[in-house]
Amino acid sequence: MHCKRIIDADEYGLSLKCLDRAGNKLLCFECMAKETGASVHYLKEKVEFLREHGCTLFPPKK
Ligand SMILES: [Zn+2]
Repeated sequence: MHCKRIIDADEYGLSLKCLDRAGNKLLCFECMAKETGASVHYLKEKVEFLREHGCTLFPPKK
């Protein structure tokens, strides 16, 4: 299952982290929010949280 939108690096990383480690299920924030029942705002905060904690799926922004 893939989202029709082109997803960005953060959406890709969070898809791997939260949905499917193998990368078969890649969703944008909006679709991920629907899928998980969380808000888009929450998902974006989660990305920043994971990045700050050195998660390798989310390289530091340049
Ligand atoms: Zn989507």
